[in-house]
Amino acid sequence: MNKMKKKRLALIAHDGKKAEMVGFVKDNLKFIRKFDLIATGTTGRYLEQADLKVKKVESGPQGGDAQIAAMIVEGALDGVIFLRDPLGIHPHEPDIFMLLRLADVRNIPLATNLASANILIRGL
Ligand code: PGA
Repeated sequence: MNKMKKKRLALIAHDGKKAEMVGFVKDNLKFIRKFDLIATGTTGRYLEQADLKVKKVESGPQGGDAQIAAMIVEGALDGVIFLRDPLGIHPHEPDIFMLLRLADVRNIPLATNLASANILIRGL
């Protein structure tokens, strides 16, 4: 049997965007189930409640964004959906910028809002 390896998608949502992330995932289960999912801690717990299997790293402010950034560098991710809250202040701002920068350095598809996330999951 030709068993293709699933692509790996990281999901991260700031607190002000977690409800949007859960809604997005539920609305797009057909596409989302095609990926191996990785998520920051709290986002991951929300996704588990939506019945998804997710590999969780630390919570974002505790270094989870940095772990996802490291996975980008290691070639362990095929795409990232990072629903940032542009209206919030975040103590881990340096980690957030690092993740965004490294996605660009490594040319990894990155969506930071729902419109681009919809395109990303259909295009990957
Ligand atoms: P969280 O982290 O999923 O653990 O809340 C997200 C973030 O704040 O970067």
